[in-house]
Amino acid sequence: MGGNENARAVRVTSQDLKFYIETYGCQMNERDTETIAGLLIKEGMSQAMDISEADVIILNTCAVRESAESKVWSRFGKIRSMRRGGKPPVLVLAGCMAQLPETAERVKSKAPYISVLTGPGFIHEIPQLVREAMAKKPEDGGHKILKAVTPARTAASRDESTQLLPEGLPRRSIPGVNAYVTIMYGCDNFCSYCVVPYVRGPQVSRSFQAILEETARLCEEGYKEITLLGQNVNAYGLDVPGSPDFPALLRALDKTPGLLRLRYFTSHPRDFTQEMIEAVRDCPTVCEHFHLPLQSGSDRILKAMNRGYSRDDYLRLVERVREAIPEASITTDIIVGFPGETEEDFQDTLDMVRKCRFDGAFTFIFSPRKGTAAYRMKNQVDKKTKSLRLQELVEVQGAITRDINASCVGRDMEILVESMAEEEPGSVKGRTRTGKMVIATGSKASPGDLVNVRIVEYGTWYLKGPVAP
Ligand code: SAH
Ligand code: SF4
Repeated sequence: MGGNENARAVRVTSQDLKFYIETYGCQMNERDTETIAGLLIKEGMSQAMDISEADVIILNTCAVRESAESKVWSRFGKIRSMRRGGKPPVLVLAGCMAQLPETAERVKSKAPYISVLTGPGFIHEIPQLVREAMAKKPEDGGHKILKAVTPARTAASRDESTQLLPEGLPRRSIPGVNAYVTIMYGCDNFCSYCVVPYVRGPQVSRSFQAILEETARLCEEGYKEITLLGQNVNAYGLDVPGSPDFPALLRALDKTPGLLRLRYFTSHPRDFTQEMIEAVRDCPTVCEHFHLPLQSGSDRILKAMNRGYSRDDYLRLVERVREAIPEASITTDIIVGFPGETEEDFQDTLDMVRKCRFDGAFTFIFSPRKGTAAYRMKNQVDKKTKSLRLQELVEVQGAITRDINASCVGRDMEILVESMAEEEPGSVKGRTRTGKMVIATGSKASPGDLVNVRIVEYGTWYLKGPVAP
C-alpha cells in the first residue's frame, strides 16, 4: 500500500457547517476517510463542494515516505491563511503523520494554526475534538488538542498506538462499484525501512463475523467488488486464538450474495501459503491477481530489510502461483537504494524482475524514516545513485509490462465496468480480474456490468478494444 501520494477529495451533501477532507497515501487512509466523513455527517455537518467553503479542513496524511509528508506541509502552508466569512477554518492533521513525534513538535513550534492532531486509532473522536476546537476563541491562544500517541515501540504489543476502531461506525462510501472492507489494523512485521508498525500499531484482526456482515451489507447496497484491506492480509486471524485464518475468510466471503469480485491488499510473500493459493484458485469471486511485494532481489538486502524470505523462496512462490493458476497476474513493490545496496545488489533486483516477469510494479526510492532501523544504518546510498537506479528499474519493468500487455491483443477479456472513460468519449472503462485497466470503446454498458472486450490496442497502463462480438 501507499503507492499513491496524491490527494483525493471526498465530498458529501450540504448544511450549515461544512467540512472538506483530503486523503493522502494508501487505501487504508481512503477507508478511514469514509469513516471520518460518515461521522461528521452524523454530527449534522455537510460537504463543502470547494475547500474555500469549509469550516473544517481535514488532511488525512501518510508517513511512509518523506515526499508524502512534504506534500502535506506545503498544503497546510497554502491553506493556513484561508478565511470563511472572516473566520479561519479548523485545521485537522489526521492519519499516520499525526503519530510521529516530529509532527507534534512541529505543530507546537511552527504550525500552531493546526487545531487537532489525531492518529488513525482516534478517528472516531474527530467530531468531539472538532467541537472542542470550535468552542475555543482564537483570543484564547488558539485551540490545540493533541491526540496522538507515539510510544517508542520496539516489539509488537497492544498499546495506545493500536488502531482498533469500535465496530458499527458510520461510513460515507464513495458511490460506485468497489468498496473497501478493513480486515485487520496495524502490522507486526517491522521491516527495517518501514514506519507503519510505529504509526499504525500492532496487528489486530477484526472479528470474522463483523467482516462477513459488513461485506454482505455492502453487496446488498449494490457494490459488486470488495477489496479486503490490511498491511499483511495473509496473517489475518493469527493474532486471535481460535480465529479462522485468511483462506477460511476468503472461502466464507466467496458465498456473499451479489458479490462478483473479491480482492485483497496487501499480502506478504513470507506468509503466502499453499492453502491461500488454493483458496484463490477455488473461489469463483476471488480475483487471479497476486500483489506480492518483493522489495529487493538481493538476499543480503532482503535480510537487512527483515523480510523473512530469500530470492529462492520468492521464485518458488511465483512458480507455485503460476502452476496453480496459469492466467494469474503478479504485481510487486520494489525499493531501490536501501542502505548498503551495491551495484551488484541492484543487478540482483533487475535479475529478479526479469525472471519473475511482473505484470506491473510500484517502484520507490528508499526514504529514511526516523525511528526505523534502516534510518540508523550506515552506508546510505547517495541521491543520484538512487534516482539512476529507479530510472533503470522503471525502464526494465516498463518493457516487460508492455510486452505482457501486447500479448493480450486479440484476446477477449472480461471487465467489470467502473465508469465512463473520460479519456475516450463514448466509452467505458473497468478492470480485468487480473487488475488490468481496459477501455471498452463504444460500449454503453453501465457501472457494475460485466463486459467482454476484444483487445486491439495496448499501452503501459491500459488495454483497449470494442465489445467482443
Ligand atoms: N504492508 C504493505 C506495504 C505498506 S507500505 C506490504 O508489506 O506490502 C507500501 C510500500 O511502500 C512498501 O511495499 C514499500 O515498497 C514502500 N515503502 C515502505 N517504506 C518505505 C520507505 N521507507 N522508503 C521507500 N519505500 C517504502
Ligand atoms: Fe511495513 Fe513490512 Fe508491515 Fe508492510 S509488512 S506495513 S512493509 S512493516
